[in-house]
Amino acid sequence: RIVFLNGSFVPFEEAKIPVMDRGFLFADGIYEVAAVLDGRLVDNEAHLARLDRSLGEIRIRNPYSSAEWTRLEEELVRRNNLAEGLVYMEVTRGAAERDFAFPPADTPPTVVMFTQPKNIRHSPLAQTGIAVITVPDQRWKRRDIKSVGLLGQVLAKQAAVEAGVGDAWMVEDGYVTEGSSSTAFIITPEKRLITRPLSNAVLPGITRLAVMKLAKEAGLAVEERLFTVEEAHGAEEAFVTSASSIVMPVVAIDGKPVGTGRPGPLALRLRALYFELAEAPAKA
Ligand code: PLP
Repeated sequence: RIVFLNGSFVPFEEAKIPVMDRGFLFADGIYEVAAVLDGRLVDNEAHLARLDRSLGEIRIRNPYSSAEWTRLEEELVRRNNLAEGLVYMEVTRGAAERDFAFPPADTPPTVVMFTQPKNIRHSPLAQTGIAVITVPDQRWKRRDIKSVGLLGQVLAKQAAVEAGVGDAWMVEDGYVTEGSSSTAFIITPEKRLITRPLSNAVLPGITRLAVMKLAKEAGLAVEERLFTVEEAHGAEEAFVTSASSIVMPVVAIDGKPVGTGRPGPLALRLRALYFELAEAPAKA
């Protein structure tokens, strides 16, 4: 396994980060995750644009241009013979003597990339769907930044695991914000696709945007608005989106079945459309 660390491709075992790295000490860093299907990066420009924005919001200089990132990601995918899975990227504010304030301006950022093989397209979970529980959203107020400070999500996901379900939907003021690592969607009995609008309260999901576009093209009404847990309980279908799961049907919320209690036809349709789209450049 080969990882990318600070400009070099190195064996996994040799990739070491200093104790004083601010990513380790303060979660002072940004990450990004993009899917790889058929050895090709999916929607990568959008992921790199979000990475650039997140870095800008916490004032870390983006060490690479989009073209440079892409070249490095593609080389990493190639060196790891990755056909299907994820590319993980992280940039921290670097290593310096421990102090909350920013380190000296010439401190180089720490840049890490690794790949993870994952069965995305034929994930068995997509056939059965997942159940979710709802948990209070305990995160900070800038969830639009893809920061490596993920304790809220870690605790939410662990609660899901301990409840024997696939994910947790986080809830604030009675409204669903998002999944622990995914965007939450419901489809109302009137067949309207609902997801929360973008704001500081949620991460702007890259898959979210692609799926909304596909839904509109397929003739579904798409509404960006808040929805409550109660409305979700009465939904006809529910699903989550993320780069690692694409479209994952949600079949129960807090033990109550959603619709028929089986993956919904529209969720499965959107999932299929997404893979068609991801394959399209190869066909072109
Ligand atoms: N929301 C949160 C909190 C996430 O962590 C993620 C992805 O990891 C998403 C949404 C989905 O984003 P994307 O579709 O860009 O993977």
